[in-house]
Amino acid sequence: MSSTDNNSPWGLGTKIIHAGAVPDPSTGAIMTPIYQTSTYVQTAPGQHKGYEYARSQNPTRKALEDALAILENGKYGLAFSSGVAATDAVIKLLSPGDEVICASDMYGGTYRLFTKIFEKFGIKFIYVDTTNAANVQAAVTANTKLIWLETPTNPLMNITDIAAVAAISKAAGSLLCVDNTFASPYLQNPLNLGADIAMHSATKYLGGHSDVIQGCLMMNDTDLRDKLYFIQKSCGAVPGPMDCFLVLRGIKTLHVRMQRHCENGFAIAHYLRKHPKIEKVYWPGFADNAGYAVARKQMRGFGGMISFTLKDQTIEAANKVLSSTKLFALAESLGGVESLINHPASMTHASIPREERIKNGLSDGLIRLSVGIEDVEDLINDLEQAIG
Ligand SMILES: *Cc1c(COP(=O)(O)O)cnc(C)c1O
Repeated sequence: MSSTDNNSPWGLGTKIIHAGAVPDPSTGAIMTPIYQTSTYVQTAPGQHKGYEYARSQNPTRKALEDALAILENGKYGLAFSSGVAATDAVIKLLSPGDEVICASDMYGGTYRLFTKIFEKFGIKFIYVDTTNAANVQAAVTANTKLIWLETPTNPLMNITDIAAVAAISKAAGSLLCVDNTFASPYLQNPLNLGADIAMHSATKYLGGHSDVIQGCLMMNDTDLRDKLYFIQKSCGAVPGPMDCFLVLRGIKTLHVRMQRHCENGFAIAHYLRKHPKIEKVYWPGFADNAGYAVARKQMRGFGGMISFTLKDQTIEAANKVLSSTKLFALAESLGGVESLINHPASMTHASIPREERIKNGLSDGLIRLSVGIEDVEDLINDLEQAIG
């Protein structure tokens, strides 16, 4: 599996705990305080300590952004008020006439932002099956300015070879942004594989406790950082200091949580696969999966996101499972310590037209699990009684 190739002598767990953590300069507080302020007093006009107005700079946000950069082996991090706000900022780098090549299977809210908001400003989105890099190459034109990947995808866990697409992107003079939400920086680092931007919904594994909405972008190029920072402060989708504190706190346990998500995910994926009532299990760790070789190459583990279909493909059969679990709560979102169950066709992916969904393999009966870090026997018993 891939290694982190940055200059830090520390292991990943140590980095995650100490990333960007400096004692507060005014008091020595070991944890960065919540700087709940909108502005900063200047000693004379234009004379200040680097902080003028909190849409532009906030010390709690700065501590988080530094930590986020370190987690993705990037030079810079930028935090946004949600994952889609982070995506929105990336698209605002573009101009009318520019083309974006993106994955046909991706988060429903990303698809909605592209089709319902940005298409009308003259930005063109070309959807391809990115699991075959040749499809990306075939879609490249002189106007290709951005390639948008998600891997593993939500909810079908399709795997795209980030390094292969990065090579195509570079040759095309395009930017490559990877939505790394499903893997988290603990399992995959797109910047190491040649991507220009790593994007996360920090609402999920980074926050890890289902108590905050936030997004972020990490990158290495200074010019790109300056452009995205300009968009962040001009458009104003910044997270509040309390939310930054929550994500800072969440990421301190990212490695321990992810290890347990991976262990529990492994056990549940294998349990489901053997179950006589189950048709297919989508999880990147099965050796007979199309994307397995690439997943092994670019990920350190396979995570806790699993989708499956029942042999009985009716919506009634799926509904029975969805409404019978007691530990797995029926809810959108993922990546928290508690387990969730979700019906993509009517919940997270309802904004994608049905024929598009079916074409991409997202059937009405598909059920998605975000496996939490509870005792795995309890989770399996819960699924057993719900599937029957
Ligand atoms: C949730 C999610 C987003 C959007 O993030 P929000 O924080 O909800 O705005 C984007 N991509 C993926 C893969 C997600 O799961």
